[in-house]
Amino acid sequence: MFKKAFATAAAILAVFALSTCYTADTAPTVISTLEGRPPSDAIVLFDGSGLAEWEQTDGAAPTWTVKNGSLTVSKGPIKTKREFGDLQIHLEFSLPAPPKGKDQDRGNSGIYIQGNYEVQILDSYENETYYDGQCGAIYKIAPPLVNANRPPGLWQTYDIIFRAPVIDAKGSVTKKANVIVLQNGVLVQDHVEVVPTGGRMGSTESAKGPIMLQDHNHPVKFRNIWVREL
Ligand code: MG
Repeated sequence: MFKKAFATAAAILAVFALSTCYTADTAPTVISTLEGRPPSDAIVLFDGSGLAEWEQTDGAAPTWTVKNGSLTVSKGPIKTKREFGDLQIHLEFSLPAPPKGKDQDRGNSGIYIQGNYEVQILDSYENETYYDGQCGAIYKIAPPLVNANRPPGLWQTYDIIFRAPVIDAKGSVTKKANVIVLQNGVLVQDHVEVVPTGGRMGSTESAKGPIMLQDHNHPVKFRNIWVREL
């Protein structure tokens, strides 16, 4: 009798402990993810309506062209006015069609996270170049895992998860920045450690920085750019 009561009490305690453990968790924040819209907790950087979030790298108003809901590269790179640390980024791009030029001189642009680390944009559909310089590469650091490119003129997507470098009080990097990239929904960079790449904005790494889009003299188009701070 005593044994049975003890077992019952132990069982009740175990259930109580488990439920306490469960209820101690924080409920995930509810966000809206309607089709064709950015998530409700996103910061929209470009939705076709204007360039309020952007400026030239010298702080001047951007000269890039906004037309029919898309943004076309013009003179000089542009950067966000805001600065970001850990980040999820979504953007869409379309490369000039019919294609012109070859190798790096064909549909070249790029997204520089924190102004420092370039995820290459290039027309890599039936266009040979060095592997760590093709579309989906972290420029001169890591080639993409696969070539997931669509033909020029079609819209393509990048979804990027970025973990900022950890910087100590003396300004030294104690943990490198880390990047995951999906191109057109396909994993092309998997937790790749990165250091600043060529053509970057500044000379140092930091905990926060802007997003920069590259001008490589090609009329690459962008649309639907948003981020989520992590
Ligand atoms: Mg580039």
